[in-house]
Amino acid sequence: MTTSNTTRGDASSQSPLSPGINWLSDLKRSRKPGPFFGEAQHTWSGASTCAVHAGSSDDPRTGAVGTPIYQSSTFLLEDDQYNSIHDGYARDRFIYARYGNPSQWAVQQKLAALEGAESAIVFSSGMAAITTAVLSFMDKGAHVVASKELYGGTYNLFNQELPSLDMSATLVDPRDFDAIEAAIQPNTQILYFEAITNPLLTVVDIPKIVEIAKKHRLRVIIDATFATPIGLRCLELGVDIVVHSASKYLNGHSDLIAGVVLGSRKLIDQVWPRMLTYGGSLDPHACFLLERGLKTLAIRMQAHQDSAFALATYLEQHPAIEKVFYPLLPSHPDHALAQRLLDNATGNVTFVVKGGDGAALALLKALRLPKQATSLGGVESLISLPFNSSQAGFTHQQRVDMGILPGTVRLSVGIEDATDLIADFKQALGQMTDKTETTHA
Ligand SMILES: *Cc1c(COP(=O)(O)O)cnc(C)c1O
Repeated sequence: MTTSNTTRGDASSQSPLSPGINWLSDLKRSRKPGPFFGEAQHTWSGASTCAVHAGSSDDPRTGAVGTPIYQSSTFLLEDDQYNSIHDGYARDRFIYARYGNPSQWAVQQKLAALEGAESAIVFSSGMAAITTAVLSFMDKGAHVVASKELYGGTYNLFNQELPSLDMSATLVDPRDFDAIEAAIQPNTQILYFEAITNPLLTVVDIPKIVEIAKKHRLRVIIDATFATPIGLRCLELGVDIVVHSASKYLNGHSDLIAGVVLGSRKLIDQVWPRMLTYGGSLDPHACFLLERGLKTLAIRMQAHQDSAFALATYLEQHPAIEKVFYPLLPSHPDHALAQRLLDNATGNVTFVVKGGDGAALALLKALRLPKQATSLGGVESLISLPFNSSQAGFTHQQRVDMGILPGTVRLSVGIEDATDLIADFKQALGQMTDKTETTHA
């Protein structure tokens, strides 16, 4: 009764590209952006101005500066609310906290402003956002073509959950456009890629993916967690739906789990009823933390990139290091693409230590600044090894086939000063070289 726009996502009949039915995507016809507080579409050009002000509002009752936390599970029902339920615009009113609440609207408005999206929904995790978004745009029996370089949870969604729902996925090399096209079947509905992959930091050519999708009338969903809306404006490049794990750079302080799905109001209106059913709604206090974290997103991303670039450059010339992957290094295979597409996009650096996984373990022990933990995107540097954490479920040979060589280290560079990070790596790598020399002596 509260689901106004629940038509299953049928990519062919609702595509804005389908001739003669362009009015279906015409926002003016029946939909407005949001739901947001007020009508005002901001006109700020700067990402930091949006990050600080969009969606945030002072408390009208007390004058308290900043958005209050609306810690309420339910809202008073008056004529307006009853009418919204009856007439199918309940997403634009407050009724029950899972359906939507003021804390969610505030942070959704900020995220939408940063991403240049008409609408957004926050979720209780990145995986809740991804699963809900993918299932919102797949019919019974549908197929998705996705990157073979995927976050583990997403890999499991495609490989284990989809088949149990009578759906399927083909995983392809994200740099091989012929393979992507060849994998498209008559029942394919989605192209799904991560903008920057983990751990090799492959940069995906999104304009090219969009071009293939347009040709075959498919929807494009991009996980832009590693790139953030500061680093990459997916929707401007023609992507239909952007998803992020907000647990990473968006929140930036390693103190909450959240996700977000963004896109046109029309498409996000199709995600909303699935969010209601699957239930991954974000609680008001987490909304507040995320909204607060987002205010510094643009300056944090600049600091992440500056420190990561300086450290990656240092590591690349160090004799104890075999190889460094960072998209802004000229040695990275996607360097030209990264320069074209990305700007302050990521603080993640992956490198290979000479001497294999044993040497990598010794390095982690010798480092003082980076904390040994999975995850990424926090203000503090985090370091981990794929072989015993993120990619531990694969055999040695499977990891090598994926390009993850022995001695591979994942480093999420925080916003610490590059001089301190470099000094720490210098002393840690120095200890290792000393040890090697002693053993050899
Ligand atoms: C962490 C992550 C996810 C999952 O997000 P959660 O918030 O942990 O559920 C999805 N995609 C990428 C690229 C991630 O790094």
